[in-house]
Amino acid sequence: MKTTEHGKSELAGSLLAWYDKHKRDLPWRRRKTPYRVWLAETMLQQTRVETVVPYYRRFLRRFPSMAALARASLDDVLELWAGLGYYSRARNLHAAAREIVNRWRGRVPKDRRAFLDLPGVGPYTAGAVLSIAYDLPEPIVDGNVTRVLCRVYAIEGDAKSAAVRKRLWSLAGELVQNDRPGDFNQALMELGSLVCVPQDPACGLCPIADRCEARASGRQGELPRLPKRKAVPHYDVPVGIIWRDGTLLITKRPTDVMLGGLWEFPGGKQEPGESMEGALRREIEEETGLAVDVGDRIVSVNHAYSHFRLTLHAFHCRNPSGRLVLTKCDAYRWVKPAELDDYAFPSGSRAIIDALTAEQP
Ligand code: SF4
Repeated sequence: MKTTEHGKSELAGSLLAWYDKHKRDLPWRRRKTPYRVWLAETMLQQTRVETVVPYYRRFLRRFPSMAALARASLDDVLELWAGLGYYSRARNLHAAAREIVNRWRGRVPKDRRAFLDLPGVGPYTAGAVLSIAYDLPEPIVDGNVTRVLCRVYAIEGDAKSAAVRKRLWSLAGELVQNDRPGDFNQALMELGSLVCVPQDPACGLCPIADRCEARASGRQGELPRLPKRKAVPHYDVPVGIIWRDGTLLITKRPTDVMLGGLWEFPGGKQEPGESMEGALRREIEEETGLAVDVGDRIVSVNHAYSHFRLTLHAFHCRNPSGRLVLTKCDAYRWVKPAELDDYAFPSGSRAIIDALTAEQP
């Protein structure tokens, strides 16, 4: 299939007509301010639409504008983000909001370069916000767009390679040159979400099926070509609920590490040859300077991150002795169980809190 100007505008037309009829009614499609689009697109990275919707609504209720977000503390922002994962997104959004208020008087810059200078903003976010909120002809290439374009234009080669990515951005840049660039980008992504799905695409329902090279040659199932996934390592991580006079110890992760700024229970990875209890005693001592008695297990929780999986094993720990000297965290608190809801925890720790709450008489 040739990407002639005529062919491109017909493809865009078919896609837009389909989008007008079939697009999902999603909260961020109702009022498209730069702030709302930015928030939605940031939350949607690596995260499913159904998961994002309640988070998006809650976040907007609490921080209805860029100015409100800029005024908020990072702790409050992380508290609302807790459970959504990829917390650097929240930290960057918060930092960017402050920069926009300080440098751009609260208005998201329309200039792509200026936008790309903001924390956490890459080509995808820039393309999404500039096209959807400002209707500028800026392209987007995400996983859905990659799949659709690789199939429509039968693009062989590793879809994650620099050469293929360059071609995809260039194709997306040509296709978005129409009179509804924001809707066009959303239509392409929507087609990838609803019709041109990874397994068994619904080609019979596809508005651009007659222009799809993969379909014509029966290669829908082969494209895009993706590198084989590497085996994901698994770690066992014992953590301690360290009790002292009816309160328990929580620590705050430094902001520049994974899950930065979130709270957790002290603990760490079990090393080869260590018992779970031994690993926990060692980790707590290294992290807090405290010696503890390890008691009953409360719960074990599985959690998957992009590059590894872990199982958190939570234990009651009592009789802390020694001087509290924290080495791997930004802050600590002794809190009552009922106060845990006031702090932002990642979802693994949140599951431990649920189990702990269920244990309380
Ligand atoms: S025809 Fe099938 S493979 Fe081609 S874009 Fe449409 S859904 Fe995807």
